Amino acid sequence: MTVETLQVPAYRTFPVRVARVQRLSPSFLRVTFTGPEMDAFASNGFDQRIKVMLPLPGRGTLDCPAGDDWYGAWRALPPERRMPIRTYTIRALRTEVGEVDVDFVLHGATGPASAWAERAGVGDEVVLVAPNASFPGPTGGFEWHPPADASCLLLAGDETAVPAICAIVESLPGGQHARVLLEVPTAADALDVAAPSGVRISWLPRWPADGTAAAPRGQLLAAAVAETVHELGDLLAPSPVVELSDVDVDAEILWEIPAVDAAPTASSGVYAWLAGEAGVVKGLRRHLVQEVGIDRRSVAFMGYWREGRGSD
Ligand SMILES: Cc1cc2nc3c(=O)[nH]c(=O)nc-3n(C[C@H](O)[C@H](O)[C@H](O)COP(=O)(O)OP(=O)(O)OC[C@H]3O[C@@H](n4cnc5c(N)ncnc54)[C@H](O)[C@@H]3O)c2cc1C
Repeated sequence: MTVETLQVPAYRTFPVRVARVQRLSPSFLRVTFTGPEMDAFASNGFDQRIKVMLPLPGRGTLDCPAGDDWYGAWRALPPERRMPIRTYTIRALRTEVGEVDVDFVLHGATGPASAWAERAGVGDEVVLVAPNASFPGPTGGFEWHPPADASCLLLAGDETAVPAICAIVESLPGGQHARVLLEVPTAADALDVAAPSGVRISWLPRWPADGTAAAPRGQLLAAAVAETVHELGDLLAPSPVVELSDVDVDAEILWEIPAVDAAPTASSGVYAWLAGEAGVVKGLRRHLVQEVGIDRRSVAFMGYWREGRGSD
């Protein structure tokens, strides 16, 4: 590798504008972005994460950091001129027409990203930070690394993980046995997914059809994960039950991913990928690792956001 290629950044900024918005359901808005440099926009597929840099009131994207060290340039700005940055998932990339889809959960005008999405219209500008097609090595930024021989996959998450899980599901080979558990606000948030044969998807709406009272966040997901794990009992990789180190989800990020090259476990039947609100994921981690005794090399746990805290 030459010095020049090593200097190409793995991630770079892309100034983009909204080409289309499509309300998928009460809680999901699909925003299609396009821009002048989309031929350099890359994705590894699966749960590929990107950053969305949001316009500042009165300044739009004027303060977009320039150069390869976009993060250093952003940090060097005075706080009031730093465009808010949030993490999202590439739902689809169509390089041939220079378009990328991002599915935003509409959770009210409580954060800059959701507030922006609620008002998004054609022509609105943001800046995306995404893998650079010119980078010569692996760009990473995704956590879907199941062993090739997993006999069953378990994917579980809340609405923020729906874009990632749908993208993963659509990449699975036909016949792969997979259980998918998705907790969403309402029954109308159950989206169409091009799932191959072998995948069973359960949508778990917190609000019941009669609209009486919503289940507490995470309750349905925890029950469904426990039930599914029970059903899959014989396929689970048992390991000695371990004492978990505590993760303070208000102070640190819950992000526990098996090493990509982790040796296949002795009876690695099930591989699990779980993401969503950090307190909920922490509870799932406690159940699976401490109570069930699942092999930690077979599970990825990701806190995507934290209730009551902005993602600054
Ligand atoms: C790897 C990764 C991929 C992600 N992919 C997606 C994606 O594709 N689509 C998506 O919508 N989100 C996704 N998220 C989650 C998203 O980054 C957070 O929801 C983020 O907090 C939204 O920013 P905001 O500016 O709207 O709110 P913030 O300013 O971060 O938070 C403001 C308030 O809103 C609350 N809040 C944040 N998100 C939600 C929510 N979903 N429901 C209810 N309250 C909430 C916070 O607790 C806080 O009280 C992803 C996160 C990660 C780490």
